[in-house]
Amino acid sequence: MKKQFAIIGLGRFGVSVSTELYKLGHDVLAIDNNEEKLDDITNHSTYSAVADGTDEKELRNLGITNFDHVIVAIGDDLQASILCTLLLKEMDIPSVWVKAQNFHHHKVLDKIGADKIIHPEHDMGNRIAQHLVSDRVIDYIELSAEYSIIEITVPASMHKKTLAQLDIRAKFGVTILGIRRGKEVNISPTAQDRLYKEDVLIAIGHNNDLRRFEETN
Ligand code: ATP
Ligand code: ATP
Ligand code: CA
Repeated sequence: MKKQFAIIGLGRFGVSVSTELYKLGHDVLAIDNNEEKLDDITNHSTYSAVADGTDEKELRNLGITNFDHVIVAIGDDLQASILCTLLLKEMDIPSVWVKAQNFHHHKVLDKIGADKIIHPEHDMGNRIAQHLVSDRVIDYIELSAEYSIIEITVPASMHKKTLAQLDIRAKFGVTILGIRRGKEVNISPTAQDRLYKEDVLIAIGHNNDLRRFEETN
């Protein structure tokens, strides 16, 4: 289903979010107060406009209140980012996601009602660290401080064995949510499903248990 997104602030983060949402077929309004920043986005957004994200009138004139999702991607100017977020929440935008610069910024955004606070550098750093630690880990999502979901290749020792034979949940405390084989994904596999060394597993568990699973050869 097609959704409407507005992105305020077209640094590297704002541009990549806008471009991807537009590629996925959504309506994207891209906003920056610096006209030069709009040059590259016009072909990768539905509408683009020069406006100050801290000016309520300018935002209203762009019809911002018609958007369900607004992403505040103003980078270094913390004051502007905070004021913009506050205005959007006062205008009753249901979902306001904001890129945070640091812990203090995060705390303020949380207090003024940001619906999601994003730390792209931190999140990407974590993901890259996971890849570096285990070259079998393909992707990683942090669910909380303790639990994660990982995508991981099958250890050689598990080739051609079923989940029941391997007794993965009992032995590792890890649950396999899906098995990807080429383009097919077997969602919520049963105990009798067999693993092959070319498969990719989508696994959920406590970080300590996942780590033990990653270290299995
Ligand atoms: P990133 O970290 O995502 O790469 P950046 O560090 O390159 O971003 P910044 O210059 O910090 O980018 O800010 C992102 C964008 O936000 C810039 O293009 C800037 O022009 C824009 N911006 C700053 N203040 C405002 C504002 N008040 N209204 C609208 N846009 C703004
Ligand atoms: P459980 O209470 O752990 O689900 P169960 O006695 O219901 O176990 P089965 O569903 O028959 O057993 O599965 C047998 C064993 O196979 C489980 O104990 C578990 O170790 C493993 N297993 C089955 N499905 C999965 C899965 N999706 N991920 C990880 N291990 C699984
Ligand atoms: Ca930056």
